[in-house]
Amino acid sequence: MPAPTLDDLKSWATHAVITVAVVIAVVALGIALLLRDRPDIDAIDWQPLTVLEPRPDAVTVTWFGVSTLLFDDGDTQILIDGFFSRPSLADLVLDVPVASNAAHINLVMDKYQLRRIAAIIPVHSHFDHTLDIGAIANRSSASILGSATTANIARGAGVPEDQILVAESDVDYTFGDFTVRLIDSVHAPIGWGGATPLPERSTNRCNCRPRSAPGAKAEATRSWSRTVREQPS
Ligand SMILES: [Zn+2]
Repeated sequence: MPAPTLDDLKSWATHAVITVAVVIAVVALGIALLLRDRPDIDAIDWQPLTVLEPRPDAVTVTWFGVSTLLFDDGDTQILIDGFFSRPSLADLVLDVPVASNAAHINLVMDKYQLRRIAAIIPVHSHFDHTLDIGAIANRSSASILGSATTANIARGAGVPEDQILVAESDVDYTFGDFTVRLIDSVHAPIGWGGATPLPERSTNRCNCRPRSAPGAKAEATRSWSRTVREQPS
């Protein structure tokens, strides 16, 4: 094999420099995306198409991002899911245990006057539906209505037993003038190959105790659709 010429060495060096530069750029981009927090909802300049002044007796629905919704008839508030904290994407990717942000929860509950919550009803037990349910219930007298895993997440946060209800499907639950019925459903197939994501690890995603519980694997992604009905008064 002939000895490489000076031109060969220059060509290899050039390719090596380009390769290293591309690798550094890709890694830097990956780290930048990893460390970038998702934007605050207030940063979204979203203008609703229709602005209506709600009637005094109207039921209002307030969206808190992800799938947390507040139903309020003026007397009773029902919270579907309880996720106000926003763990960083880096925490999730690096599998850092996430925790409720007490200051943020206090801020949201004060700003939106969450003083009359009768029930918190997570549609399933993944952290983006349940991370803050215990903190919210402990700041109110709200009942938590959900799966056995949801109940254990509540217990792990120190919620008193008389505020915890393990839900049954197709049963009407009454809170004030609201009637809520949970209908067995399935999680959206958003995992790899259509699988349900994190079926086993969801309770480990928050630093709740107990970290796992009998039936947690099966229950973590037990999902419900729900109807929320306001009784005519
Ligand atoms: Zn989920």
